[in-house]
Amino acid sequence: MNLKPIFRFAPSPNGFLHLGHAYSALLNFHYAKKINADFLLRIEDIDLARSKKVFIDAIYQDLTWLGLSWQKPILMQSSNFNSYKKAANHLIEMDLLYPCFCTRKEIAKNAIKKDPDGAPLYNEHCKILSKGDVVKKISDSLPHQWRLNMDEAIKQTGNLTYLSAQPNPTSKLIEHQIRPQDWGDVVILRKDYPTSYHLSVVIDDAAQNISHIVRGKDLQHSTDVHRILQKLLGLNSPIYTHHDLILDDDNLKLAKSKNSMAIRDLREQGLSAKEIKEKFGFNL
Ligand code: GLU
Ligand code: ZN
Repeated sequence: MNLKPIFRFAPSPNGFLHLGHAYSALLNFHYAKKINADFLLRIEDIDLARSKKVFIDAIYQDLTWLGLSWQKPILMQSSNFNSYKKAANHLIEMDLLYPCFCTRKEIAKNAIKKDPDGAPLYNEHCKILSKGDVVKKISDSLPHQWRLNMDEAIKQTGNLTYLSAQPNPTSKLIEHQIRPQDWGDVVILRKDYPTSYHLSVVIDDAAQNISHIVRGKDLQHSTDVHRILQKLLGLNSPIYTHHDLILDDDNLKLAKSKNSMAIRDLREQGLSAKEIKEKFGFNL
């Protein structure tokens, strides 16, 4: 039993950190400090094509400049592919994953609905392929992803909730009912790399005994997928806080913003870390 609470900030090194990342990291750090918890940094570099060393170095530099420090070691997800494979194999043995050979184009063409992220919802085309078809396609080396059979997964887990809190030590815990069916048969192992954000994040949050996850509201719906994966894989579920997003002047999410709000740019323009913290209401 792990008694000390543990928080984490888990950026993907696909670009420079922006103000939204700064807010999230600071919120984690201060919340952790208030309850005498550990604070970890995890580098979510599973997408080997998009992850770059220059962005990883910049993460360390920018967070240090903001006044953050973290317990070592830093977990690099790119060094953990074996754990993800093991978990995925377990789900395959449970008959909960199936290979999908559809292209992005086909999925878009066949979709009637959208998933919570606004992407075309998969129509389960490959769920009914015969065993023979699947064996043939795989032996022909057709590119494929592995999807969760969501109906079957929900049948096995029943209704699930997770605990959510506001980012302060005295916040009441609220039980949040999940609706993973809104995601349909989500991809668990991608075509381009042998894991997915959903699988890796769940495995590593459990492996690192994370007790509190504080992240943006843009990931709130993803938590429904994470919760059902935790249940299927027999993992503990942390307490979740989904904070407001920092928007740019045009009310756009910063990741999609044209205006550069990269922390390093702001620093070069002469903004101080203190000013950034004050802007967010952190008085340190
Ligand atoms: N790596 C994810 C991102 O940068 C966040 C992971 C998480 O906090 O769950 O968007
Ligand atoms: Zn398919």
